[in-house]
Amino acid sequence: MRALLRWPRQRDDAHQEGRATVARTSRLSGLRSLAPAERRAAVAAELGIAPDDLGAFLDGGIDLTHADRMVEHAIGTIGIPVGVATNLIVDGREVLVPMATEEPSVIAAASNVARMARPLGGFTTTTTGPLMQAQVQLLDVADVHAARARILERETEVLELANAQDPRLVEHGGGARRVDVRIIHGRHATHLVVHLVVDVRDAMGANAVNTMAEATAPLLASIAEGRHLLRILTNKADLRLARARVRIRPDDIGGPEVVANMLEAGALAHDDPYRAATHNKGIMNGVTAVVLATGNDTRAVEAGAHAHAARDGQYRSLSTWERDADGNLAATLELPMPVGLVGGATRSHPAAQAAVRMLEVTTADELARIVVSVGLAQNIGAVRALSAEGIQRGHMGLHARNVAVSAGATADEVDALAARIVAAGAVRADVAERELAELRAGR
Ligand code: NAD
Repeated sequence: MRALLRWPRQRDDAHQEGRATVARTSRLSGLRSLAPAERRAAVAAELGIAPDDLGAFLDGGIDLTHADRMVEHAIGTIGIPVGVATNLIVDGREVLVPMATEEPSVIAAASNVARMARPLGGFTTTTTGPLMQAQVQLLDVADVHAARARILERETEVLELANAQDPRLVEHGGGARRVDVRIIHGRHATHLVVHLVVDVRDAMGANAVNTMAEATAPLLASIAEGRHLLRILTNKADLRLARARVRIRPDDIGGPEVVANMLEAGALAHDDPYRAATHNKGIMNGVTAVVLATGNDTRAVEAGAHAHAARDGQYRSLSTWERDADGNLAATLELPMPVGLVGGATRSHPAAQAAVRMLEVTTADELARIVVSVGLAQNIGAVRALSAEGIQRGHMGLHARNVAVSAGATADEVDALAARIVAAGAVRADVAERELAELRAGR
């Protein structure tokens, strides 16, 4: 395991702050053949931290007391596997990515595509900065256009009142930046909606902007000479975008014919909402797994992604597929990425903290860049499989183990039974039960 590429800026910062150093390489080949404890040790060794620093993954990270503090009427917790996606390079930095998912093949596919992307440098990202928006709905306004003008005249006063709600955010360089006023001509009414545009720095930002919306709503209503109703963020976080692009040589992904098929698949996902929904689900397999592992709000990210997919009025694929001038597959992905490192469960959940440690990110912006890169890797993995051998071959091998467990196989029998039902060409419960009986009978 040798150093390949690094992210020198962060490595220097990490040294100065005495934190763990940046992973030397994410190319941890052979992880598959290790036991889970050995994998944790290998990842920790690569990161230069103690295996215990990843210990929160051992038992899910929280007990019932903790759960009881997090949600109402708690009765327990549910375990979700966490795996490590390997091989990823994001903006020149080697990253080992914790992914929380119950679905087989997802982590393998992301790792596989990340490996294919390495020869041309991996993933390159940009972000727009962490701007979230709160909406204040104003009703019973006689003169919506004049009200809009009056609100904009007093923008400074509104922003000051908003910022007075969150001195800590302002201390960290964030705060309310701008007021937008929208007039929406609907079927039954004309709506007046004020947006507070807030730089939320390293927070996901929902609570932060909701508090500002509630505090400023009475002032906005009085300026508009109406009344306020809804005061909450919009999950269409289209001022907080993260983008990734990647190039893969045809021979690294199965050949020119596979690339040609992938372009056909990408074109259908752009034009057909039925295909786009599945295409985007593949993206979210990667996105949601990292968002969940880091204790972030999966629903907020998913709502934002699907709203973005429908931004021109038709639901479309979130990614684009092309051939570059050299014939390589050139893929891009853009989506809203409202994730944070403070607030919510990100700070309070020990497993989320271990995940952040593994990622070696210090800002929400860095986390967003990794999440969107994993989403793009996942997307390419799914479409590549569909464009080549079909999705079931890779999927079924792993799915077979779940079917084997459901059929009653013990830990000692799972692998043997899974192999038998794959060999039988039918990964089904009835076949698993039959094969288990035969296995036990020594046949
Ligand atoms: P939060 O209020 O717990 O934390 C954010 C606060 O942390 C900031 O307001 C600031 O005061 C402080 N802070 C300290 N250091 C900071 C830094 N470096 N950068 C930024 N802020 C810093 O959480 P939040 O992020 O405002 O809200 C997230 C939570 O809100 C999640 O649990 C989410 O599920 C929930 N939520 C979501 C929705 C929705 O998406 N529709 C609605 C309501 C609540």
